[in-house]
Formats: sequence, structure tokens, C-alpha cells
Amino acid sequence: MQKNSWLNNFHLTSNIEHLEFPAIGTPENLAVISTLTQLDNSQWWSPEKINENQFKQLFSLFKHAIKTVPHYKDYPVPTSVSGLMEIWQSLPILERADIGGQGEALVSSKTPRSHGGIGTQYTSGSTGQPIAVKNTALSRVFWRAFTARDHIWHERDPGWKLGHIRIAKKGQAKYPGTTGMGWGSLKGKAELFKTGPIAGLNINSTLEQQAEWLLRTDPEFLITYPSLIQRLAEYCIKKKIRPKKLRQVETISEVLTPKVRELCHEAFGVKIVDLYSTRELGYLGLQCPENDHYHVQSEGVLLEVVDEEGKACPPGLPGKILVTPLHNFAMPLIRYAVGDYGVMGEACSCGRGLPVLKSILGRERNRLRHPDGSHRWIALSAKDYKALLTIAPVKEYQIIQRSLTKLDLNLAVDNKLTKDQKEKLTKWAQSALHFPAEINVYGHKTLERSANGKLELFKSLIE
Ligand SMILES: [Zn+2]
Repeated sequence: MQKNSWLNNFHLTSNIEHLEFPAIGTPENLAVISTLTQLDNSQWWSPEKINENQFKQLFSLFKHAIKTVPHYKDYPVPTSVSGLMEIWQSLPILERADIGGQGEALVSSKTPRSHGGIGTQYTSGSTGQPIAVKNTALSRVFWRAFTARDHIWHERDPGWKLGHIRIAKKGQAKYPGTTGMGWGSLKGKAELFKTGPIAGLNINSTLEQQAEWLLRTDPEFLITYPSLIQRLAEYCIKKKIRPKKLRQVETISEVLTPKVRELCHEAFGVKIVDLYSTRELGYLGLQCPENDHYHVQSEGVLLEVVDEEGKACPPGLPGKILVTPLHNFAMPLIRYAVGDYGVMGEACSCGRGLPVLKSILGRERNRLRHPDGSHRWIALSAKDYKALLTIAPVKEYQIIQRSLTKLDLNLAVDNKLTKDQKEKLTKWAQSALHFPAEINVYGHKTLERSANGKLELFKSLIE
């Protein structure tokens, strides 16, 4: 395939009067295009070359952080790029709680002016504690470039209709939903390239409404959460509902399991592309165009999977995910623990040199603790799930660990659970979760989602 062929599929927006071809966009769009053109090459570099270039950038960030950010003032001063590489794994880990507690101590007293205006991203975080991360206009350029890379990798036609079912403020995008033109928040000349129509629906609509919306708006491309597409796919299979134009589903925010990938394929005949990003850090991983795992977006971030001592875990072994955004000079985050666990993989068959993140295992507090103190992540198999559904028509589930010997199993069900069902469900949970202790089963009409729309399948209340 011809290099840069993606440019052929995108009708770039021109910002100059009477200039149709070749199009020249706004200064910000030119910066995005310049970035994209470089990303197009760097994805094929060797892992060593990618790492070397990352550390050139990190060296600059690190020196800036020591000089202008109070939190880093006593960090060791490396004299060269290779010197920084050598000490990197001995640098302290920055925990999420550190930002909440001492946000100001992480803000640079001298953000380079050329990085553009400083903005603040507020996120509720998985702990429910709101945190504020500052970044610059530059981070928006990179955010947009990686968004475009995701479209390019997964061969989306910019003319497609985009549908999204997402968390929205109460009353916003409520059923029957909203419609408009253009996929993003940018319109007209501010858009990088022309995109198709958009249809939105609030996540708090009922399953019946979501299915009706999907049929009526008939998007080619749907963005939503794994837990939502799972329920919607099950519903559509049962009711024999199949939208005509759907070509691809993208999932965000929650941990995606192979089971949900299968369900989506069964219900709609399309694949799921998963995305690993956070608002405060940007794009961390994009799904490989040829495999189900992720490629770390190394041009924007250094992502490490480490053990309890902060040392790199070999491929295949789970560890804590640490992230260092390469370009945030307003509030440098160095070895920031995002709160997720992950597993790195071996080199990818697609030929890209970007590191492989094989799986994302979810939040630290998503680890089930056993009475003996050992832990494991909750990952129900297709068989477990099938067994659950044969006991009761469960729409959603959530497991809450109250103590080392006590779990709650919350289930969304239409009808009240019988005593017999509850007993069977308790036995099921003990076996599926390998948890031979007290399990209390509760039926609910719906399960509560967190402020950012996530349904945490497992939550531990043990401190
Ligand atoms: Zn790949």
C-alpha cells in the first residue's frame, strides 16, 4: 500500500479563501497534520529507536520539571539522555492521591509560552475524588492527532454517521436523542477534515429506547461503554433487532472482555475497537488494526508496567501501569500511577514498533482478596456467565467486597429474585469467583453507575 494513502480518504479543511486544492488549514490544524505525518513514520520504527526518541523528549521534560516544579526539585539531575535512562526505574512513583493533595506542588512556575495557553482538565477519577490536571494548547494538538490516527488505523470513512451513547448531564441528549453534523466539538474550518453526521443518546435511556434509537438513527460507527454494548447486544439478539448500516463499534472507559467482543460480533456482525485513554493524560493505547491488543502511543506517553518495586515487568506478567506524558510542561507527571493494572506483550505481528499492551486488567480495587490475603482479578469466563444466566435473567451484575470473608452480589433484574434463585446464585458466585465465604445476593431494578458513567463490575471496600 502506498504510504500516506490515508490522506486520500480525508478531505482536509481549507482555511484560506478561494483555496480548495491543495487545502491549507488553520495554524492548529497544520500542527496536527505535521504531527500525523511524523506519526505515520514513527509507528514503524524499531522499539529501540522509539525509546531513544522518547527519552530525548523526556530529558527535556525532566530538566524542566526539576528547575520549575517544586515537587521535583530534589530529584537527581542527569547530565545526558542515557544518564536519565539509567536512573529512570529508580525514580519514585507518583500516586493519584499525590495530585489531589498537592496539586499546586506539581505545577510549573514557568511553562514555556510557545506551548500555548494553559487549561485544566477535571476528572472525577476512579476514587470519586475530583482531580485537576493542567495542560497546554500543545496537548490538544496531540490529542487531535491521536484521535485521527485511531480513525486511520481502523479505516473509518469520515463520511460515516457517528452514533454515541454516553454519560451526559441529566436531561441532556435524552431520548429520542440529538442529531447534528460533524463528529467532534470542532465545526467548519476548525475541523481537520470534513466528517459526517452525528447522533447522540444519554446513557440513562432504557434498553428499549437504546435499541429503537440504534435502528432509527442507523449509524455506521457507534461509540459507547463495554457494559452498555453488552446489554444492548444481548437485547438485540433476543429481539432479533439488527441495525442495517453499523460497521464498527468503539468502546471506551471500562475494561473490555473477549466475551463482549464475541457478543457484539454475534449481535451486529461487526468488530469492537477498544480505546485506552484518560482525559487528563490523553491517548495511552489504541487497538492494533490487526489484533485485539493495544499499541502504546509512545510518541505522546511513556507507559510502563511495573512490579511493587517500580521495576519493569516482563511481557506476560501483570503489574501496575505508570504513565509519563511526554509533552505536559505545565504540570509534569513523572511515573504517574493511573490506578490500572496491565500486561505488556511481545512484539506485534503487524510490524509496528510501538510497544504492545496485551491487556488492561482494571483498577487496583478491582482485585478480589481471599480470606488468606492473596488476590486475583475478577474475570468471568463465557461459561461462568452462561451459568449465571441459566439461574436468572440477569441484565447487569456488580460484585462488592465488604471484607475478606464477605461479598455482595448486586444484580439488575426485572423480577424479584426467588429464595431458590438466591441460593443458586450464592453457590454460583462461590464457585465462579473461587470465594468460599459469605455471599449476599441483592436484586435491583438498575445498578448505579459512577459519576463518569462507568459501571465497576467489582469493587473492593477493604482498605
Ligand atoms: Zn500491531
